[in-house]
Amino acid sequence: MPPRHHQPEALLAALSTSRGRADRLTHTEHLAARQARCAPWPDGIRPEIVASAQALGIDEPWTHQAEAMKLARTGQTVVLATGTASGKSLGYLAPVLSELLEGTEARNGRGATALYLAPTKALAADQRRRAAELAPKRVRAALYDGDTPPEEREWVRQYASYVLTNPDMLHRGILPAHPRWASFLKALKYVVIDECHSYRGVFGSHVAQVLRRLRRVCARYGSSPTFLLASATTADPAATAHRLTGLPAVAVTEDGSPRGPLVFALWEPPLTENVGEQGAPVRRTATAEAGYLLTELVERGTRTVVFVRSRRSAELVALQAQDQLGRPLADRVAAYRGGYLAEERRALERDLHSGRLLGLASTSALELGVDVSGLDAVLMAGYPGTRASLWQQAGRAGREAQGALAVLIARDDPLDTYLVHHPEALFATPVEATVLDPDNPHILAPHLCAAAAELPLTEADLTLFGPSAGKLLPVLEQRGLLRQRTEGSWYWTRRERAVDSVDLRGSGGSPVQIVEASTGRLLGTVDAAAAHTTVHTGAVHLHQGRTYLVQDLDLETSVALVEPAAPPYSTSARDITSISVLATDTTVEWGEARLSFGSVEVVNQVVGYLRKRISTGEVLGESKLDLPPRTLRTRAVWWSVTEDQLLDANIPFDQLPGAAHAAEHASIGLLPLFATCDRWDIGGVSVPLHPDTGLPTVFVYDGHSGGAGFAERGFLGAEQWLTATRDAIAACECERGCPSCVQSPKCGNGNDPLDKEAAVRLLDILLAGAPGRAADRP
Ligand SMILES: [Zn+2]
Ligand SMILES: [Zn+2]
Repeated sequence: MPPRHHQPEALLAALSTSRGRADRLTHTEHLAARQARCAPWPDGIRPEIVASAQALGIDEPWTHQAEAMKLARTGQTVVLATGTASGKSLGYLAPVLSELLEGTEARNGRGATALYLAPTKALAADQRRRAAELAPKRVRAALYDGDTPPEEREWVRQYASYVLTNPDMLHRGILPAHPRWASFLKALKYVVIDECHSYRGVFGSHVAQVLRRLRRVCARYGSSPTFLLASATTADPAATAHRLTGLPAVAVTEDGSPRGPLVFALWEPPLTENVGEQGAPVRRTATAEAGYLLTELVERGTRTVVFVRSRRSAELVALQAQDQLGRPLADRVAAYRGGYLAEERRALERDLHSGRLLGLASTSALELGVDVSGLDAVLMAGYPGTRASLWQQAGRAGREAQGALAVLIARDDPLDTYLVHHPEALFATPVEATVLDPDNPHILAPHLCAAAAELPLTEADLTLFGPSAGKLLPVLEQRGLLRQRTEGSWYWTRRERAVDSVDLRGSGGSPVQIVEASTGRLLGTVDAAAAHTTVHTGAVHLHQGRTYLVQDLDLETSVALVEPAAPPYSTSARDITSISVLATDTTVEWGEARLSFGSVEVVNQVVGYLRKRISTGEVLGESKLDLPPRTLRTRAVWWSVTEDQLLDANIPFDQLPGAAHAAEHASIGLLPLFATCDRWDIGGVSVPLHPDTGLPTVFVYDGHSGGAGFAERGFLGAEQWLTATRDAIAACECERGCPSCVQSPKCGNGNDPLDKEAAVRLLDILLAGAPGRAADRP
């Protein structure tokens, strides 16, 4: 390879000065290099493993790996929460494989077993390869997932000592059939939970209950495995690991791996001539901007990955760059869309490492399954949702000695806008906590049933399942799901399998199946809760990165018939929502204003949808729909101000609906900064005069039955959250509100009315009484 010129500072200067782009660069952060720190191999790591590691070029582990190994060998629940490419796998594989090797000396050759759980199949497949590199052949590692043929499954149950699977398979396949796994479970010494930060919200809460069921079944066979968790860097990983496993955990967070210097730039695409909803100005899309930047980086021979949100965008970015580059450079740019076979992924890795491939546009599927560390530059087209994934993606840039460039390109929404103008929210703020709420009765109830079907439930089990369990049992008995045969012992009474009523990745209600009309092929499912807004007749639906047009949504059979299509527009549902307070858990007073957290009932009806041009956001037309209303009982945070405060803030009653609506939108956009949720996981309602509070009130609620912990986060961090919301609105340079500040892509009301300026005044008067502000006052 000829030497390349990719000094990150020089690259960034070139990008930002060409074509008058200086004002698009909103911030540059310089992150210093970190030296490697190593430690000797701890006691208890077998010489065979050390030898294989050394053959792979790892003479000694980094300090965090050694620390995790040491704790794991003492049977301590440990969570290893360090950066991308910091070798977390070695940290848990070395102790696990050592134990399994010792187990091979047992009479049946399987004196010790271990279970590995990953959120995706691709990741589990990768892990098997890594385990095979480190362990002698005597350790039998095997995949056990939906693709494992039946004849092989029997072999895995009988002989494998390291079983790699996913939580769904543990829930549906392994636990209900535990007697067939008896010898494996009896010898179970370790459970590895990889990428554990991805178990958040409803999915995470389900997984937490599956792990409790696993622990209970293990206890029945006399084993008590040690849990080893690997996580991206998150806030308080020990607390999350505790919530997930139910066991006290020790966190290892001091990263001993080396890192080259990183220049991290924040970038805001320019406003265009195009006009969106309510005549608002529209920015150039982050993907289009990424296409331009990728072109220039490839021209300079810079190895670059662009992270985008969908397969379609990956293709668009790659195509745009190829067009602009022309031959022969165009051949050195590709799109990666996930779902590739292992060999294809390996080929891609090789091409990137060798430099044959210079530019790759990819969905974040790349985060799971392809090793592309050591790049010269990473572009992120849009904030990936959490600081944890931001650092994971940025971490792909940089090799030990050389510097690298990372650029976050803002999308046209309030959170991205806020971030590129508030670098401290990215660089001086710890990553967010992974939020989950396993105690949600809607989630717990079906797992209690599944547990009772696995082994009769006893009083002694209740502490394992948390404080709500005791209260739920009589309810489940009443519903005829569980029966007490002997005092203090509950049985599953139904003929059907208890586990079939729970989809770990769903949120209750029978999910709607997405079926390709021409082939009858089942493409996947969407939650019942989301079906009306995402797969109504006429909707453009994105499924695993591909676009489809919904031909018909049949609610009777819960089927949406779709056809692949690439219309030049996206759709967004219009709806009507009302909310009532069922119970208030906590209220705090902020001066005259009040902030509350509690249970609510949300009634929502989708009444139509808009078609918007993808490239510009321009509204092309509107269609009506005839769908029944849906009721959701969930948790919410809400705040209200008094009429006197409105007078003080100079907000006349006719401006109030627009002010509250704008504040609601922006606050939903900003909540993901404080909780690991997506703006699609939460909803909001703003009411000028709410019957339950008697005051102007803004509600933000969890979009899942029973709640998922997000609204609670908002309540607990309300002052920072609403201050950030206020600042995001105030900072936007648009005149009367735009998608970067107060407009929402999921507004059921066509973004009308919205009053940006009055929203700032409304939030100011609310925050004036907040405890932090009050303390600042003279
Ligand atoms: Zn704006
Ligand atoms: Zn709205």
